[in-house]
Amino acid sequence: MTLTEKIMARHSGRPSVSPGENVWVDVDVLMTHDVCGPGTIGIFKEEFGPAAKVWDKDRVVIIPDHYIFTAEAKCHRNIQILRDFVKEQGLRYYYDADFVQGSGMPSPYRDPTKTNYKGVCHKALPEEGHVRPGEILLGTDSHTCTAGAFGQFATGVGNTDAAFTLGTGRTWLKVPPTMKFTFRGQIPPYLTAKDLILAVIGEISVSGATYKTMYFAGEGIASLTLEDRMTLTNMAIEAGGKNGVCDVDEKTLAYVRKRSTRPNWEVVKDDPGCSYCYEHTWDLSTMEPMVAKPHSPDNKDTARNCRDVKLDRAYIGSCTGGKITDMIFAASILSGKKVKIPTYVVPGSTEVHADMLRLNLQGQAKQNGQKSVYEVLQDAGCQIGPSGCAACLGGPIDTFGRLNEPIACISTTNRNFPGRMGHKDAGVYLASPLTVAASALTGRVTDPRDYVTAPIETGTAGLV
Ligand code: SF4
Repeated sequence: MTLTEKIMARHSGRPSVSPGENVWVDVDVLMTHDVCGPGTIGIFKEEFGPAAKVWDKDRVVIIPDHYIFTAEAKCHRNIQILRDFVKEQGLRYYYDADFVQGSGMPSPYRDPTKTNYKGVCHKALPEEGHVRPGEILLGTDSHTCTAGAFGQFATGVGNTDAAFTLGTGRTWLKVPPTMKFTFRGQIPPYLTAKDLILAVIGEISVSGATYKTMYFAGEGIASLTLEDRMTLTNMAIEAGGKNGVCDVDEKTLAYVRKRSTRPNWEVVKDDPGCSYCYEHTWDLSTMEPMVAKPHSPDNKDTARNCRDVKLDRAYIGSCTGGKITDMIFAASILSGKKVKIPTYVVPGSTEVHADMLRLNLQGQAKQNGQKSVYEVLQDAGCQIGPSGCAACLGGPIDTFGRLNEPIACISTTNRNFPGRMGHKDAGVYLASPLTVAASALTGRVTDPRDYVTAPIETGTAGLV
């Protein structure tokens, strides 16, 4: 069996399962946020009754992150619905946007280490110890697949399915077949996982992995940081994947042991000789920095080929490209220089925000006289906002970094469908943080090889 099949078998109490079978599985964690939480809660109460209790108050995790820094009253009301439900149910894991009080635009947290708010759910889940190898995580968000980087089965579900799991702790899943993507060699300094996943999606298309597991394997994946692996699994859904997975190694184990308080989880891996429905191998030494041109993540091209594309804006953020290692990659290119186009930076989580203030460009605690990642970006002319989803999905008109005009933007986010970041006629180029930073310096799509001359060390950033 594959890793995914083994997890499904163990959670359904069966010795084995095969692709295409439907199985009932026990769910380890259910996550929801401010956009889908209220709807899920409504269905839960309708179907299970107004006095119903969730199946396990320690396995429901609620992380407001989407529409936080806005004056839109409906968005504030959603947060209040979450607060009321958490109180009523006695839920243990709720990360309140505690600065959202009353009406109008909320003032952002003053200190990212002194707020209950965590930022983007997919970054906050592992940080707060809710992600473990061998488990099943469901979330009311399509990028829940991000957590597959930790060797678990993680997938997005709709509000109705989530409401059913809230009441029962179970769900019904079809076992997906597995596609294996092997990367040979070590990651070169000018590439990040974003280039790899854009190459994969460009190869197989946005429907190429529909209801399949995308398994990222090989020494190339082992050479990635844990955070960069999250970029790969995050974008499995952009190819239609049911989930994405990476093998568990020492980096994964060290992270999970430090963050999670639950002792009973199990590392699973593919059996030798298990069956894949598709296999493709890439050699990292021959790959180039990639972009996905408007308006689809599979509209691939090389950054070099797009060098004549003029840009109006750069954006560095989201669950895909707003991690601390992404910030270090971008800051390394921008260090000592000035951006040529407006460049918006949004930390993926409050932990990332705190790390940007705390760490130097090598990912180590900054010493006297050294600049922090935050200072480097600020000195380069970037506008840095508070953590959250921000303009990744457009959001209300007053959202930080939102594309309110039909402009061209290069972004570390994961989707570039028309209107995704705001204006329906804006054109979004998806790229790695290296490519976005290099492009911010020139105002055109720019291959980061023009700036990266040596490996960029990220130290223990994103790990401890
Ligand atoms: S950062 Fe973007 S992709 Fe990630 S959860 Fe938020 S809206 Fe979705």
